[in-house]
Amino acid sequence: MQKPSVTTDHLDAMQLMEFDACTRCGECLKWCPVYDVIKSGAFSPNGNGSGLVKGYTPRDKVGDWKQFMNAGYGLRAKLFSPKKIPESVIQEFSERLYHCAACGVCGSVCPAGINTTGLWDSLRTSLVERGNGPLQSQEFFTEVIPEYGNPYRADQQNRLQWLPDDIEVSESADIAYFVGCTVEYKTPLHAVSVVRILKRFDIPFTTLGEDELCCCADLISIGHRDTENIARDFARRNIEQLIERGVKKVLFSCPGCYQVAVDEWPRYYGDKLPFECVHASQFVFELLDKERRWTNRIDKTVTYHDPCHLGRQMGVYEPPRDAIKRLPGVNFVEMERNREFQRCCGAGGNALREGVSDLTGEIAKMRVQDAVDVGAELLVTSCPCCFLTLDGGNGNGNGSNGNDNGNGAGVVVEDLATLCARSLGLI
Ligand code: SF4
Ligand code: SF4
Repeated sequence: MQKPSVTTDHLDAMQLMEFDACTRCGECLKWCPVYDVIKSGAFSPNGNGSGLVKGYTPRDKVGDWKQFMNAGYGLRAKLFSPKKIPESVIQEFSERLYHCAACGVCGSVCPAGINTTGLWDSLRTSLVERGNGPLQSQEFFTEVIPEYGNPYRADQQNRLQWLPDDIEVSESADIAYFVGCTVEYKTPLHAVSVVRILKRFDIPFTTLGEDELCCCADLISIGHRDTENIARDFARRNIEQLIERGVKKVLFSCPGCYQVAVDEWPRYYGDKLPFECVHASQFVFELLDKERRWTNRIDKTVTYHDPCHLGRQMGVYEPPRDAIKRLPGVNFVEMERNREFQRCCGAGGNALREGVSDLTGEIAKMRVQDAVDVGAELLVTSCPCCFLTLDGGNGNGNGSNGNDNGNGAGVVVEDLATLCARSLGLI
């Protein structure tokens, strides 16, 4: 008997039920940032500007995979034989599935409670396994990360090249700062800001330096969770190094690293982690609560962009807002889409930014426009990938604060730690 064209191997029982739970109500279509830019004509997946949108919505993806499963496992398949799905149809589905930032807002608004990002992860894993994923433009992650230990082809020995001379790193300490590849190599000012704030409060810390290895969030997000053992191997080596340094708490600047550490590291390690993981915005900014020695007033209208990984996925919404509101001279405003209903910046970690950068750029412009619409002069975020994407406006941001964001809107994009450090006169 013919085998089903797609398998259900990477779907658990709950996920199988989720395909049936979709009522095709269309709520997710109102929120999906990818669908928004395709529908507006700003981005055309097939490059012909036709505004073709079929197949790119969250609802289409759920429905299309359900049909694939019916062809392989439905009643007709059981009575007769699984119906073969043409390879071209599966490949086209795969291309559409990877045109997604995995932002998760479709799951937040779904009345049926479908965990869409969990589904996308599992489907991508299945597609990688049968040779249909990821996008060709994302394949380099699978070669570069194992070879270099980071996705930027950077020298591991330069991991701490951003470290200022006035900062001392302890060999071992209760607190470790897991800086992350993007901050170390692309937005070093964010790291300088964090360590200067730690120094201001006399908190000794350690880092892994050249021993730090990529969290592999991008590999996981493109579906290489189990087909490659790199993520597991790197996680174990990072964990062992942190244990050797006697760490009790690990601070993360990048929400992607933070989420992988909380959600994946215990599974890779095979046990509960012997240290606590927190995002820098939860730890460092608590320190600011009693701070009264502000050097610089902000005197601007400021809004905050929730990174998908930090907000929707990890539930950290208030600490960054609290920190911003404490700074002198801040007029804080919310964008219309905020917290769990936030609009993604378009980066999708780095996976969509590297995979389909034009699509990312158009989503970023929409997010910047959200800030313009509420009169913000400063658009603050607490993720290096969001920062680069919003600052560039076209997916090619150079991370230099104060640059035009690419759509001429004139909003300055700022990292939260950097904004706090500036206000304290530390940078
Ligand atoms: S919101 Fe949920 S139930 Fe409604 S169409 Fe989208 S996935 Fe299906
Ligand atoms: S995860 Fe985000 S980008 Fe992907 S389908 Fe859902 S709403 Fe659209």
